[in-house]
Amino acid sequence: MAAAAAFGRAVLTAGGTMLALGAATMAVSSVGMGVARVVLARRKAATAVDCPSCAGEGRVRCAACRGARVIEHHPFAGDALLFAGAVSARTPWCACPMCGAAGEQVCVNCLGERTVLPAPREVRLYFCEAEGAR
Ligand SMILES: [Zn+2]
Ligand SMILES: [Zn+2]
Repeated sequence: MAAAAAFGRAVLTAGGTMLALGAATMAVSSVGMGVARVVLARRKAATAVDCPSCAGEGRVRCAACRGARVIEHHPFAGDALLFAGAVSARTPWCACPMCGAAGEQVCVNCLGERTVLPAPREVRLYFCEAEGAR
């Protein structure tokens, strides 16, 4: 009986130790992540430029609907049912599935953050030459 009680206490103690270690690890790592995030944010703020893809807007016009929010599409267009006259094609407009009828999408260059770190000089040169500009 005493042995069982001692075993129970040992299990409880071990469990408590593991819990405390886990909590301590989580606290240390979350503090470390927070510090790293602040340092990175400050570094970015010091050198960031307006995102060239969205001109610092964070969002770009939807390429699928061109900002119209709807696209001309009928789910049965071209379907045999349509040609047989079983389905009407009088309302071919549907909400744009690419932007969810918002007319714009989050800029994939800056992920909506509006600013980006400037590209290294050699990358900029490469793109300028490829575009044939400047
Ligand atoms: Zn759209
Ligand atoms: Zn952008």
